[in-house]
Amino acid sequence: MTVRAWWWVAASMALFSVASSSANDPVPGISLNLAEERAARISDLRYALHFDVPAEQKERVTGRVTAKFELKDASRPLALDFAAPAGSLGAVSAGGGPVEATWTNEHVVIPAAALRAGTNEITLEFRSADGPLNRNPEFLYALFVPARARQAFPVFDQPDLKARYTVTLDVPAEWEAISNGAQLSRDTAGGRATITFAETEPISTYLFTFAAGRFDVETASRNGRTFRMLHRETDAKKVTRNRDAIFALHAGALAWLERYTGIDYPFGKFEFLLVPSFQFGGMEHPGSVYYNASALFLDESATQNQKLGRASLIAHETAHMWFGDLVTMRWFNDVWMKEVFANFMAAKIVNPAFPEINHDLRFFYAHYPAAYGVDRTAGTNAIRQQLDNLNEAGSLYGAIIYQKAPIVMRQLEMLLGEAGFRDGMREYLKAFAFGNATWTDLITVLDRRTSEDLAAWSHAWVAEAGRPTLVTELNIDAQRLTAISISQKDPYTARGLQWSQPLVVAVAGEKQTRRMPVGLKSARTELAIRPPGAEVPLYVLPNADGVAYGNIVLDPASRAYLLANLERVDDELVRGVATVTLWEEMLDGRVEAAALLEALMRALPRERNELTVQRMLGYAQEAYWRWIPAAQRATLASRLERLLRAGLDAAPTTSLKSAWFNALRDVAVTLPTLAWLERVWSGKETVPGLVLSETDFITLAQELAVRGVPNAGKIIDEQIARTKNPDRRDRLAFVRPALSADAATRDAFFGSLTSLENRRREAWVLDALGYLHHPLRAERSATYVLPSLMLLREIQQTGDIFFPKRWMDATLSGHNSRSVAHTVRSFVEGLPPEYPDRLRRIILSSADDLFRVTAVQSR
Ligand SMILES: [Zn+2]
Repeated sequence: MTVRAWWWVAASMALFSVASSSANDPVPGISLNLAEERAARISDLRYALHFDVPAEQKERVTGRVTAKFELKDASRPLALDFAAPAGSLGAVSAGGGPVEATWTNEHVVIPAAALRAGTNEITLEFRSADGPLNRNPEFLYALFVPARARQAFPVFDQPDLKARYTVTLDVPAEWEAISNGAQLSRDTAGGRATITFAETEPISTYLFTFAAGRFDVETASRNGRTFRMLHRETDAKKVTRNRDAIFALHAGALAWLERYTGIDYPFGKFEFLLVPSFQFGGMEHPGSVYYNASALFLDESATQNQKLGRASLIAHETAHMWFGDLVTMRWFNDVWMKEVFANFMAAKIVNPAFPEINHDLRFFYAHYPAAYGVDRTAGTNAIRQQLDNLNEAGSLYGAIIYQKAPIVMRQLEMLLGEAGFRDGMREYLKAFAFGNATWTDLITVLDRRTSEDLAAWSHAWVAEAGRPTLVTELNIDAQRLTAISISQKDPYTARGLQWSQPLVVAVAGEKQTRRMPVGLKSARTELAIRPPGAEVPLYVLPNADGVAYGNIVLDPASRAYLLANLERVDDELVRGVATVTLWEEMLDGRVEAAALLEALMRALPRERNELTVQRMLGYAQEAYWRWIPAAQRATLASRLERLLRAGLDAAPTTSLKSAWFNALRDVAVTLPTLAWLERVWSGKETVPGLVLSETDFITLAQELAVRGVPNAGKIIDEQIARTKNPDRRDRLAFVRPALSADAATRDAFFGSLTSLENRRREAWVLDALGYLHHPLRAERSATYVLPSLMLLREIQQTGDIFFPKRWMDATLSGHNSRSVAHTVRSFVEGLPPEYPDRLRRIILSSADDLFRVTAVQSR
C-alpha cells in the first residue's frame, strides 16, 4: 500500500476571500441551483479513481480522484461535493499545479484562477467517510444512492452529470472485487492486489459502485453471455439449489427487455453481488447489481409468493438497466419514474409464469388502499414534488410514490394501448440513451402517439394531489333501469380539476353481470342502457376491473345490497373492489361501522381467496378497535372471537391459519379466549396446523400483557428469559415498561423517549408506542399526544427518513376520542409559518382516521 503525505486544506481557508454567488459559497447538500449551474457548465466528464482498501475495518479507505471535463465559463469558481469528516481532504491540484481550494459546507471550491475554459483536470486526495462504504470485517460495498458518493470522494454528485469512470482498487490479496466496469487486470504483490477496471459507459454518480472482500464466485453462461455471481453463502447446498434459477431469471429478464426496448443490454458485462443483510431488496448498479442475499438464496420450503418475489426483484433490477441507468431522471424529483417503470416491466416479465395468482387482485390490494390512505387526507402530496436540495430526497418517498404512481402508469399504458406505449418507450429510451430526461420529456414523446391531451392528463394525475370523487346515480323508470351516470367532483372545490380515466361498470342482474366500459373525461358521463328498460340491477359497481382510481360513491340501493350480500359477489376481483369501496364509504360516513363489521363477519367464513381473507381480517380489526364505540365492542366480543376461532380451525393452509390466529390474538378480550391464548403461549396447548415462531410467542406475550392479564409481569419476564435471539430479547426488554399495568411506569417510559439516546432503535420505539397507545390504554396515553407532536420536528432531524410518519401513525393509531382529535387540530392550527410543510402534512395524514371517526361520532 502506498503511503502519502497529507496537506490539510483547512490551513488555506482563511486566505481565500469568498464572494457571494452560489458557486462560491454553496449551501450544504446539493441545491437545485448548484446542480443547474454545474450542468450548464460541465461536459464530457471523466473520473479516474484509485481507492486503497485496508484489510482492517477500523482503518479509513483513502484514495485519489482526477476529474477531467470541458468547462464553459472559467471566470467563476467551481464547487465539487465532498461531505466527509474534517481532515479528510488532502492535496488538490489543477492542470498539474497545486490549488488553494476551500472546503466549506460540504463543498470543495476551486477558485476561478485555477480553472480555464476548455479542458480541465483536477486531482484531489481524500479519505472516504465509512458510511456509504458499508464496512464489514471481511468486505465492503459502496452504496451511493441518492447522493452519498460525495461522502466517499470529491465529485459532482448529481444525476445529470453522467461520467465515465476508470477505477483501480488496492485491496488485500485474497479479496475479490467488482465495479461497474469489467476487470482488466489483477497484480498481486506484498499481500495486496491491485485491480484495474475498464472505463465505464456514462453513468450517474448514484449508480457508480465498487465492492471488495472475501466472496465466492459462481459463473454461468446463458444465451452467449457470461454472468458472474459473488456471494458469501457458506451453505453449499443452498448455493447449488438456487444458482441455476438465479442465472436463468437474469438471462430471461435480459432477453425480454432487449426484445421489448429494441435496445441491446447497454453496459457490457453483467455481474451481481449477494450481500448478507443488504439494506434494500436490490440496487441497480449498471453491470454490478447488488441484492439482499436472502431474497435470492431461498430455503427449500420457499412458497410460491417468495419465488414470485425473487423473480420480480431480479426482473426489477434488470429493467433498471434501461429504465434508470441508460436513461436517468435529470433530478431526484423524478426518481419515482424509474421505480414505477422497473416494477411495471417486472410484472410483465414475471406474472405470466405464476398463473395461479390473481395478479389484478394482488395489484389492487397492494396499491389502492395504501394510496387512498394518504390521498384522501388533507396531508397528501402530488406524485411529482418540488425538490430544492438533494439532501431532502429521502422525504419524497411514501405511499404516493410507491402506490399511487404505479396505478397512474398502468392507466397511461391503457390510454396508449400496449403497442403504442411500448413504441413510445422505445423512442424515449433511444432519444435519451446515456443521458437524462424528465417526466415532461417522456410525456412529450408519448403525446404524439395519442389523441388524448396528455399534458392535461399528466397535470391532473401527476402534478396535482388528491383523487376524484366518483358519484354513481341510477335512472330508474317504472321499475326499469334506463341509464347510469357517473359524475366526478374535485374534493378541493376551488381547484375544479377533472381526471380522465378508463372505468368498467359492473351491472349485476339475477342471471348475469354486465361489464360496461366507459372513458371518464368530463364532469358527468352517462351510460345508456341497451336495450333500454333492463331489469333493476342487484347492484352497480363502478371499477369492476380494479383499474379506476377515486373515491367511489355508490348509489344507495347498490350500497345496501353489497352491504347485505358482499359474499354473494361471485367474481373475486369485483368482490375485492367492493370490499375496499365499502370501507372507503364507511370512512366518509356513508356506511355505518357496525353494519360493515357485520358484513365482514358474514363474508369471512365463506371467503376462499387468501388475499381477500387477509384484507377482510384487517378491516374487521380496525373497525372493531377504532370505529365501534367501546360499549358496543363488549357486546360484540365473544361472537367475533368465536368466528375467528372457527376460521382458524377451518383454514386450509398454514399462511391462512396464521392470518386467522393473528386476528384472534389482536382482538381477544373475553376471559375464555385470553385463558386459551395463555395456554398456547405457555405451551400447554398447541394450535393444530400452526407452528409458532419465537417472534409469534413474543407478540402473544405482549398482547396478553397489554390486556392486563393477572400475571402479565411474569409472562413478560419468562418470555425474556426464554427468548434465544439476543436482538429480540433486548427488544422485548426495551418494550417491557410500555406494557406495564402501572400507569406511572408507562409515563416514565414515554418521558424517556424525549432523549435521543432512547430513540435510537426506531423499530423498538414504534413497537413500544403501539402498546403505549393501545385502545385499551388510550385514556392515559391521550396525555402523550401533545408532547409527541411537539417532538416531531426533532424526530425528523435526528431519525431515519420514515421515522416521523411512523412515529405519528403509532401515536395516533389507538385513539378515537374527540379530545385527542381536538389536541391534534389545535396543534396544527397553532403552527408557525416556518414549520416544515412536509411535517405538517405528515400530521394531517396520520390524523385522518382519527378526524373521520370523531366526525362520524358527533353526527
Ligand atoms: Zn428500483
